Amino acid sequence: ISFAHFGFDEQLLDIIVKAGYTEPTGIQKQAVPCALEGRDIIGIAKTGSGKTAAFLLPMLVHIMDQEELDRNEGPIGLVLAPTRELAQQIYTEAKKFAKAYGLKVAAVYGGASKMDQFKDLRGMGPEILVGTPGRLIDMVKMKATNFRRVSYLVLDEADRMFDLGFEPQVRSICENIRPDRQRLSTYLIFPGMGYLTILRVHTHHSAALQ
Ligand code: AMP
Repeated sequence: ISFAHFGFDEQLLDIIVKAGYTEPTGIQKQAVPCALEGRDIIGIAKTGSGKTAAFLLPMLVHIMDQEELDRNEGPIGLVLAPTRELAQQIYTEAKKFAKAYGLKVAAVYGGASKMDQFKDLRGMGPEILVGTPGRLIDMVKMKATNFRRVSYLVLDEADRMFDLGFEPQVRSICENIRPDRQRLSTYLIFPGMGYLTILRVHTHHSAALQ
């Protein structure tokens, strides 16, 4: 399977080539087609496996499929990450790919000025927002953004977010996102929130067998 097999358009393929990617990695081969179908995914992948592009590339396609792309309406793609460092890495990767369509990306995280991030977010109106859970909630409370339009949610390194005690914040964000969202989670977690694709597929499958 090559990147062209995913049905990406020329603009996106061009950026992928420029990034120096010749072939999709294992996780990309597995996750990208599922994500493009609009399925929820739980992926377990190490850093270095190409997991970031695995959720970002389908996110771009998803955003470009939206009918109204009005400004300042809040992000469509939202990525939660456990640490500032990971949020920054995802941001860098997202910016690279978002160039294909001129989409805007912002990142918010603790340890940096809330006011600067507030102004940045308000002024920019990004289609893609990356952040650590606590700071994302701060930004919503300050009305720098809202999650009304989010329909593609990624919990990156979800297990680490729980280890770091972000469960209440992650839950609060998830509960405030439309129920028809697509959710991609890297790493297996979420006790008590287990309505994931694996279960749905299973239910569907057993119904078909009866
Ligand atoms: P990640 O696992 O997302 O942290 O990615 C690890 C590194 O691999 C990053 O520098 C990516 O830019 C790079 N990468 C991701 N996908 C590919 C690919 N298909 N081919 C070559 N490099 C890639």
